[in-house]
Amino acid sequence: MSRRIPEPFRIKMVEPIRQTTAEYRQARLAEAGWNPFLLDAEDVYIDLLTDSGTGAMSDRQWAGLMMGDEAYAGSRNYRYLEATVAEQFGYPYTIPTHQGRGAEQILFPELVARCRGARPLFVSNYHFDTTKAHVELSGARAVNVLDARAFDTTMPYDWKGNFDLPKLEALLDAEGDNVAALIVTVTCNSAGGQPVAMDNIRAASTLARARGVPVVIDAARFAENAWFIRERDPAYRGEGIAAIVREMFSYGDMFTMSAKKDALVNIGGLCCFREDEALFRAVRVRCVPMEGFVTYGGLAGRDMEALAIGLREGMDEAYLDYRIGQVAYLGERLAAAGVPIQTPTGGHAVFVDAKKMLPHVPAGQFPAHALACALYLEGGIRAVEIGSLLLGRNPQTGQQEDSPFELMRLTIPRRVYTNDHMDYIADCLASVLARTDQVRGLVFEYEPPILRHFTARLKPAL
Ligand SMILES: *Cc1c(COP(=O)(O)O)cnc(C)c1O
Repeated sequence: MSRRIPEPFRIKMVEPIRQTTAEYRQARLAEAGWNPFLLDAEDVYIDLLTDSGTGAMSDRQWAGLMMGDEAYAGSRNYRYLEATVAEQFGYPYTIPTHQGRGAEQILFPELVARCRGARPLFVSNYHFDTTKAHVELSGARAVNVLDARAFDTTMPYDWKGNFDLPKLEALLDAEGDNVAALIVTVTCNSAGGQPVAMDNIRAASTLARARGVPVVIDAARFAENAWFIRERDPAYRGEGIAAIVREMFSYGDMFTMSAKKDALVNIGGLCCFREDEALFRAVRVRCVPMEGFVTYGGLAGRDMEALAIGLREGMDEAYLDYRIGQVAYLGERLAAAGVPIQTPTGGHAVFVDAKKMLPHVPAGQFPAHALACALYLEGGIRAVEIGSLLLGRNPQTGQQEDSPFELMRLTIPRRVYTNDHMDYIADCLASVLARTDQVRGLVFEYEPPILRHFTARLKPAL
């Protein structure tokens, strides 16, 4: 087992969290219809629902909040943010947005309007769910061309976020003018926070640019992706994270970013352009009615200050060693206890393979969701299902879609929980593993027509 990396920070403010009794959790989960989404956060001891907006800001970011310039237009915080983006990414044109999906909603319609083909589509290694939603809302199709190795959770492959390049090339050729943009998602969230290799980004970008297709980087976890490139690609060993980030972004023409991930803020987003000033201007026009005036985009001046500082801190090498090391440490503890996980672990989460852990629970009774409920009952830990419940039914036939995996995601917020918390999580899951025969599948009590995982109510199967 690799050596534990201690937290590269001291703690100067604490937020108490409260452990509860097993009886209390049983009652709360029943009230919540066996759906951890419907629990009150106060009834959760360790919350691993998401890494989005759940991180802790640094003393410098909190100090930055006091430097907010709340001018409606042209605030100094916008100028600082714009200068930071230009320096870190090489993109001179910056639009702040309220979060990642705000960037998607103002950019995608403009890319569709510029598309020459009659049936526009976006091609990605994998569209994040809000990204797919905004592609479809703007009247286009979303097609994923992910390397098939990503679907085998036990296969040891370093770059499970990669594009399948032959498939990408064939698709670009077949669709021609219909392709509105290529979206490079780093890291690939939906494949488990798995990285995309630099040569894969370069090759995908080259294929797109040769055909006049613009390249969008979906940049939520840009720093974690850069860290994996430094760690796993011998050509980048010893290279600085900043230089790797610069190169990654040189293969894009624009980026959308949820700043709630690697930029270490609780709310915020970005939509930025490298060269295309005309497109930047057109997207700015959409920004005003949707997000707010072009120099604040739905954020307070103080939020932009914290975001600019967070962009720098998120690329700090000691922070990234600790951050991804902590996720890997939890993965190693779980693997050592015999819990089946996706390997290698990604940047922001450990995925437990519930199909393997609960083979007696059929897909139709949501094994990964049942496992998440069992983990809450065991230790007050809230995890989330990525499987059949999330996928839902085919809107045409009403049949449950076949999910390629039934995973429980343990998503680690940034700079929030200590390594002792990781040990506690591993111990609780090991206890669940020792009594999996008692974990029952779940059936619907109330099934919402769409996005059912957020509000569904379930009960244990008989
Ligand atoms: C979170 C996320 C988004 C959407 O960002 P929000 O800030 O949640 O609106 C888009 N793409 C990826 C890859 C993400 O992880």
